[in-house]
Amino acid sequence: MFKIFIDEAKIFIEGGRGGNGCASFHREKYRPKGGPDGGDGGKGGNVVLSVDSKLHTLIDFHYRRYFKPEDGGHGQGNNKRGKDGKDLVLRVPPGTVVKDEQGNVLFDLAEEDEQIVAAKGGLGGRGNASLANLLKKVPGFAEKGEPGEKRELLFDLKCLADVGLIGYPNVGKSTLISRISKAKPKIADYPFTTTVPHLGVVKMDDESFIVADVPGLIEGAHRGRGLGHVFLKHVERASLLVHVLDLASVEERDPIDDFEKVNNELKKYSPKLARRPQIVVGNKMDLPTASDNLSRVSVYFKDRKYQFFPVSAVTGEGINAFLYAVLGDLKIIWQKKLKRRKKRIIIKPREGIKDFKVIKKEDGSFLVQGAYVERLVSMTDMNNEEAILYLQKRLRKIGVEEELVKAGAKEKDLVKIGPIEFDFYLS
Ligand code: GDP
Ligand code: MG
Repeated sequence: MFKIFIDEAKIFIEGGRGGNGCASFHREKYRPKGGPDGGDGGKGGNVVLSVDSKLHTLIDFHYRRYFKPEDGGHGQGNNKRGKDGKDLVLRVPPGTVVKDEQGNVLFDLAEEDEQIVAAKGGLGGRGNASLANLLKKVPGFAEKGEPGEKRELLFDLKCLADVGLIGYPNVGKSTLISRISKAKPKIADYPFTTTVPHLGVVKMDDESFIVADVPGLIEGAHRGRGLGHVFLKHVERASLLVHVLDLASVEERDPIDDFEKVNNELKKYSPKLARRPQIVVGNKMDLPTASDNLSRVSVYFKDRKYQFFPVSAVTGEGINAFLYAVLGDLKIIWQKKLKRRKKRIIIKPREGIKDFKVIKKEDGSFLVQGAYVERLVSMTDMNNEEAILYLQKRLRKIGVEEELVKAGAKEKDLVKIGPIEFDFYLS
């Protein structure tokens, strides 16, 4: 049984809207009305998910949840096409599983630089110049831009503590975690709710990592292979240990003595964990007694080639230098891990299809439902007769009219597609 920490996020994304097409006519001095020259609208930007191995948590998505890239520019006269909207790239850590609202897995993002379009931007509406070519006549209307895809996404990241904190009780482990962390990840399926290890997400520049307290190490010794052992399992995968000492000897023990005792306990409980590299923190530097111990303790660790950082979890003194050392070591470890990682499967979502259905409502009206038909409607300029005729033609072509008749629709019945209401007339 091995439990994990889970980081979760829920975000809302929306592709940029396509720009509207333009309806205009060429004008020259001696030719009052020339041909149609309205340009197409530009495409809306996509929302792209991109795997970035620098990230190890979803902490950024706890702060901001709604994302939308640029809309496309509108087309203009003189055959000027609107500008395409820029894509918006959201960086996620490797191992992020992306699900839809129903919990279906859409993407399983593992590889560095893997990119996926999570919400497409809308197409630009065609201007009357493009429509003229298509329809073989001169249209006095243009299409509106298509709205971007809207989606709610759930991110799941199964993560293990990157750094385990060890040390005697009351040396300041919990205080240190709360000083350095920006968020608390959720703990999944943990059986010991009253004794959950302290966890925190540390965010530095554009990187982040998870720190977990390992309580019960020394206490566990008195209980044989009890609680301490179970806790150790949780941090066994932590690639780096931070050994916290009370440099001020508040409880009148010697910090070097503590260090050796804790390491001996660690060896007994988990030889695997005992082999992990350790960075040593001499805490409580704000207390005067800490200075008495400082030079002796520094020499001890220097001789044994440990990185040693005098800090105060209470005042914050020395914390930055310590954190950069931790991050530096983690980066080397992550690089090695990345090279060992195997390829994983990516599941791509289905492309949009032209399916629709006709529903007869109790009040005698009809509802036509389907992403494609709703899109056609949203791209139509309802103030323009010609544009509406063009919409009718396209709806007929994919069989909407026929299905409405089959469902019992008669002249003048009310038909709803998306937000727009129509009267039904057979053409
Ligand atoms: P833990 O058992 O290792 O998690 O230790 P705690 O974080 O609970 O701290 C034990 C006690 O030491 C608390 O009363 C803290 O306020 C105190 N303490 C922790 N860090 C410092 C520090 O840097 N300076 C001082 N003066 N007290 C500290
Ligand atoms: Mg504690």
